[in-house]
Amino acid sequence: MILVSACLLGENCKYSGGNNRREAVCRFLEGRDYIAFCPERAGGLPTPRLPSERRGAGVVARDGTDVTEAFRLGAERALALCREKGVTLAIFKEGSPSCGSRVIYDGSFSGRKIPGRGVTAELLEENGISVLGEDELPAEGDGGIFC
Ligand code: SF4
Repeated sequence: MILVSACLLGENCKYSGGNNRREAVCRFLEGRDYIAFCPERAGGLPTPRLPSERRGAGVVARDGTDVTEAFRLGAERALALCREKGVTLAIFKEGSPSCGSRVIYDGSFSGRKIPGRGVTAELLEENGISVLGEDELPAEGDGGIFC
């Protein structure tokens, strides 16, 4: 079972109210079991909402509001769902303070990126679930090792 960032499938759950639909991800999931999930929405945040960035262990919105608790709640709900459904792989939106798997924004809201993981990606990886960014899809024929 695969957990996938809902915005990659075209759900309008992005902070702006739009989505990040990726055809390659949709194609990869054809014929596979998956669950679309948005950690920020699951954590109780509205759509649209202000963009947020990680600062150390916490998360702040662009107006300076500390939104760490909502991000943690979304991550915990993602982990609970993964355990319930037997998820072994997550395919997540790169760069997100929730879903980023390799790169995130640096917390200054200046557009600078740094190596790092989003809150949900971090918690899932700490609990043995593989997390791939949308540009790291396994080559055709390799997917069976994950799902
Ligand atoms: Fe997409 Fe993840 Fe952001 Fe939700 S939290 S909009 S699934 S990147």
